[in-house]
Amino acid sequence: MRQYFDSGITKPYAFRKQQLLALKQAVVVHEEAIYAALYTDLKKNKEECWVTENGFFLAELNDTLNHLRQWMAAESVRTNLLNLPSGSSVMREPLGVVLAIGPWNYPFQLLFTPLLGAIAAGNCVVLKPSEFAPATAAVMQQIITSTFPPEYILYVPGDGATVIPEMMNHFSFDHVFYTGSTAVGKIIYKMAAERLVPVTLELGGKSPCVVESDANINIAAKRIVMTKFSNAGQMCVAPDYILVHVSQKEKLVAAMKEKIVQFFGERAEESDNYGRLINNKQFDRVAAYLSQGNLLFGGRKDRDSLFIEPTLLDQVSLDASVMNEEIFGPVLPILPFTTPEEARAVIARHPNPLAFYVFTASTAKEQYWLEAVPAGGACINNASWHLTNPNLPFGGRGFSGTGAYHGRYSFDTFSHKKAVMKTPTWFDPALKYPPLKGKLKLFKWIIR
Ligand code: NAD
Repeated sequence: MRQYFDSGITKPYAFRKQQLLALKQAVVVHEEAIYAALYTDLKKNKEECWVTENGFFLAELNDTLNHLRQWMAAESVRTNLLNLPSGSSVMREPLGVVLAIGPWNYPFQLLFTPLLGAIAAGNCVVLKPSEFAPATAAVMQQIITSTFPPEYILYVPGDGATVIPEMMNHFSFDHVFYTGSTAVGKIIYKMAAERLVPVTLELGGKSPCVVESDANINIAAKRIVMTKFSNAGQMCVAPDYILVHVSQKEKLVAAMKEKIVQFFGERAEESDNYGRLINNKQFDRVAAYLSQGNLLFGGRKDRDSLFIEPTLLDQVSLDASVMNEEIFGPVLPILPFTTPEEARAVIARHPNPLAFYVFTASTAKEQYWLEAVPAGGACINNASWHLTNPNLPFGGRGFSGTGAYHGRYSFDTFSHKKAVMKTPTWFDPALKYPPLKGKLKLFKWIIR
């Protein structure tokens, strides 16, 4: 792969465009196989897949194709007085051979979206899918191996704890792009540090959702229920818990119950809009949360079919594990607050969340909350949809990650910004050269 990259073949615009088109074509050809695999792994229906997996990916790919030439162009910048009449520009150059590591919850989108950004930026890519979504991993392998030579895009399935250290400890990647848990993110960061390899870490955490006293409760309930129980809550930006103004708690809970029944029926296990937990390990972890509060709604479960009902909890202790671990399942604690300070103190127990949501009718409150809570991203009167706009950077900060991607931000993540200064030879004032003695006054005038 190193030789292939060094040959320069991946750099021209025409090559990048051709590879993106080939990838697009392969994904379109495999559409039904992708749906079947995602149904096998996570019981997602085709509509949900289109919005969150293959359709999402294709929209981002089309956006990239539309802008690639413009993104690749050198960017002219101003030159300061000291350096006139030089010209200055920023050139985006490919990083080289990059490693992209994916998780299992959106196994297709979260591996292929970084892939398209890395191809657009002119890199060679090693792809490591999650071993916990094996049907989707098999279809992605088929797509990659039938479309690209392995010296350009190499697909490496297998147990992450084995194959990732094997690769990272024996080869110096030019970048590692990792999506997954914070715990494994730390392992990746340490291995990368040994070889000073730059990383993007797309991690998880507890994304809070504040519902203010003046919120439109019907809209808040609808939008929170939609995203929280999508993919059975296994979404990195799902609202992890709700902080609702005490005056609206009853109304919000009633509205959320109504929406759950409206979206998934009285028996969510019979709904084809409702997903399943990925495996027994995740089922057991999430099922343990069901007894950590008072059940306001839901609570039924079935280990054989990996089903956990959409569940609302209140009276949870801040010391319970449900309030200290990322829930990553269909369980939603609801905590009342009286003053914003009280709510902020709860949020501050897990700083720098990946996402933060506020439902309010007041721009003053919106501004207050946006400034009060440092977070990877945020939505006002909405939840999770910010990540579907390719014009917004998607990423965390601190424990929820480092770096960002999507659209132009992906291109920049997988490019090096090379500073270039070009100086004409027709002008070469003697004052720049030694002897410097006696030129201090002049230098103070030029450099200030
Ligand atoms: P995970 O950490 O178990 O696995 C992610 C990847 O790491 C897999 O490819 C796996 O093979 C590999 N891996 C596992 N153990 C490893 C080890 N010891 N050494 C090296 N690699 C190893 O994560 P997950 O359970 O698949 O995903 C769930 C987490 O990911 C949640 O915390 C969620 O919030 C987060 N997530 C974040 C985003 C985001 O965009 N920020 C998106 C989806 C998921």
